[in-house]
Amino acid sequence: MRIVILGAGFGGLELSTLLSEEFGDDLDVVLIDKGEGFVFGFSKLDVMFGYTDAAHVLHRFDDVVKPGVRFVRAEVTAIDPVAKVVSTDAGTFEADFLVVALGADLHPQDTPGLLEGGYEFYTVPGAFELRDVLDQFEGGRVLVGVTSTPFKCPPAPSETTLLVNDFLQARGLRERSEVSLVMPLPVPIPPSPQASEAILAAFEQRGINWHPGKLVRALDPDRKVAVLSDGDELPYDLFLGVPVHRAPAVVVASGLTEDGWIPVDPLTLQTKFAGVYAVGDVTSVGTPKAGVFAEGQATVVAAAIIATLRNSTTDHTYDGHGICYMEFGGHEIAKIDVTFLSGARPAGSLEGPDANLAADKSAFGTERIQRWFGKAWTGIDA
Ligand SMILES: Cc1cc2nc3c(=O)[nH]c(=O)nc-3n(C[C@H](O)[C@H](O)[C@H](O)COP(=O)(O)OP(=O)(O)OC[C@H]3O[C@@H](n4cnc5c(N)ncnc54)[C@H](O)[C@@H]3O)c2cc1C
Repeated sequence: MRIVILGAGFGGLELSTLLSEEFGDDLDVVLIDKGEGFVFGFSKLDVMFGYTDAAHVLHRFDDVVKPGVRFVRAEVTAIDPVAKVVSTDAGTFEADFLVVALGADLHPQDTPGLLEGGYEFYTVPGAFELRDVLDQFEGGRVLVGVTSTPFKCPPAPSETTLLVNDFLQARGLRERSEVSLVMPLPVPIPPSPQASEAILAAFEQRGINWHPGKLVRALDPDRKVAVLSDGDELPYDLFLGVPVHRAPAVVVASGLTEDGWIPVDPLTLQTKFAGVYAVGDVTSVGTPKAGVFAEGQATVVAAAIIATLRNSTTDHTYDGHGICYMEFGGHEIAKIDVTFLSGARPAGSLEGPDANLAADKSAFGTERIQRWFGKAWTGIDA
């Protein structure tokens, strides 16, 4: 019996770990990814703002050594969801169960002027490059902007804006700078009014300009202005963008997607093809695109596969629950707890912001790296 998992991000790593824990060498799990390793989304910001370095936050896939799991470093070039056959540049894999966890691809080149006149902080190389750019920045108008929806980790642009503010303050550049955020959402975190209020209060306190309900459509590098979705223009000296997100082209070509993403049963994560599941950012399941949700979805798929292989049943369905840690600057962290139940209004609560929550955030990373890669890791405290 072979389980083929495409993508070793939050979803794929959790799923392969759960299957290995359950079956060990009795199951043939093939985990395929084209990358050299895994980087937490929040680690991108840690490197960008100089809290740690790039080597420390890269978790190499060579370290995924688990009973029953074979990691294959390869690019997926075709997926046949009917036959459950996957083509890669390292050969073809036939599956009894196929799980697509390939995430969202990022396309900064799709926003006119973004690459010529600004920077993006969502890809690993983009965020890492910004470390030197910020280091050399002498102050001015910093504009953080989202260029399209949907986008990963909806709190991340607000978090980045607060960290930019902190960074400028620490360098004595805040007085001669302006910090602004353009976001498509009406409030920073719509499912959590409490968190949104805390973020908006923090913006006001720090003199950060907040432009809700708009997107950045283009940059004009010659005039140094960002053109917004309502036609307004905002001047900038340093633009930090969230690029266009799309399902990987190989997923779209497979016929798995509708309206750009893979539709799944929101309770079971099954696609319309028998024996084929999809989890995480590549789906349109209804939760935000964030690692904690991809991970929660992986636990449901693991339970379904385990039940089938054990000739039993499971009542483990997806509950849309996730916890997110958000930096407010000044080493203060907020913990946002949100649940997106199918058909109900999402509900969220807030703890902090508080310096004591730094330990919780650090444990979140440490526990996952221990489980997924079998190694000790201490986040940015190293
Ligand atoms: C700045 C920032 C901060 C964030 N902070 C948080 C946070 O605090 N908490 C949180 O929960 N989430 C956070 N996120 C979001 C989180 O990183 C993603 O939502 C999460 O990684 C999605 O998991 P996934 O398993 O769906 O996909 P991914 O983790 O993106 O994994 C997909 C994998 O598929 C591989 N792949 C893609 N195409 C191919 C192909 N053709 N062939 C082979 N392999 C392929 C990729 O290499 C990748 O490893 C943040 C994101 C950003 C950008």
